[in-house]
Amino acid sequence: MSELRHDPVQKRWVIIAVERGRRPSDFKKQEITTRQVKTCPFCYGNEDRTPPEIFAIRPDDSKPNKPGWKLRVIPNKFPALKVEGGLNRRGLGLYDLMDGVGAHEVIIETPDHNAHLGEMKVEDVFNIVKVYRDRIADLYKDHRLRYALIFKNYGETAGASLAHPHSQLIATPITPRTVAAELDSAREHFIQKERCLFCDIINQEVAMGERVVLMDDKYIAICPFASRFPFEIWLLPRRHQYDFSLLCDDDLTALADTLKKVLHKLRIALEDPPYNFVLHTAPNYNVRRPGRPNYWETLPYDWHWHIEIIPRLTKIAGFEWGTGFYINPTPPELAAEFLRSANEE
Ligand SMILES: [Zn+2]
Ligand SMILES: [Zn+2]
Repeated sequence: MSELRHDPVQKRWVIIAVERGRRPSDFKKQEITTRQVKTCPFCYGNEDRTPPEIFAIRPDDSKPNKPGWKLRVIPNKFPALKVEGGLNRRGLGLYDLMDGVGAHEVIIETPDHNAHLGEMKVEDVFNIVKVYRDRIADLYKDHRLRYALIFKNYGETAGASLAHPHSQLIATPITPRTVAAELDSAREHFIQKERCLFCDIINQEVAMGERVVLMDDKYIAICPFASRFPFEIWLLPRRHQYDFSLLCDDDLTALADTLKKVLHKLRIALEDPPYNFVLHTAPNYNVRRPGRPNYWETLPYDWHWHIEIIPRLTKIAGFEWGTGFYINPTPPELAAEFLRSANEE
């Protein structure tokens, strides 16, 4: 069982994976990208090398945990958090900790070992974002879980340990600090102005135009005004929507199309860079918080879900760790212009 330990200085929670017990020698550099289809646990024929599937899109005549699937969701073989048990909140002297309760799932996006999200068919990307929606909705029925983060690590420098296309979901019993900071800003903005911060950002970016990467009926991709990283992109619904798990299939089809286009542009403009993306949806507002009856009361008005995409072109070094500042060598206006002109086909 891993533990969630609270750092009283930084006021953040850290997952300490007690049982993994990595020794210094386990951290030597390992090559992943050359791994062959034969040994890849996410390829057809190797289903028995993963934990049994939680969900799969497969023809009616195919059997669970056998080939034939189009997409699989499995528990992570080495989960950071586990679903079983209670939180067991406790103190240890001045410290706070709880058991590592949560969920850690892997979404195997396609049977094609060499596929790229930016090159896949829209209907296949639709299946992926649909599964994001459905897994979040399912996990939010569990009132121990306060947040579900969907994320993707693409490429070794972005943290992917397997080359086969996959994304992950980690649901935590606390709202992560980074998300909480965004939620707080959005709520403060709303309380002051009775407007959604993200809707305001979208309106301003549409009016100015210079940081817009692409825009269609339903979605907009921008390089944010204070981009932390070169070619950082935010993808947002143009209409106010706070909860990703409430999206209808039409919205998801349009999202699949836009997400694919944005990733395709990145791939062309930057020659297939490693990247991460994260989906910042609403926290689990079904959770009742004794003593806080107004918990997330304004959320439907002040929160606006979005996807943050970060190509991993620069390294986070001492200054960034020491200050929380970022030095971004590429102005977002330049990045957006470059991405706009990146050929779509
Ligand atoms: Zn594979
Ligand atoms: Zn909004």
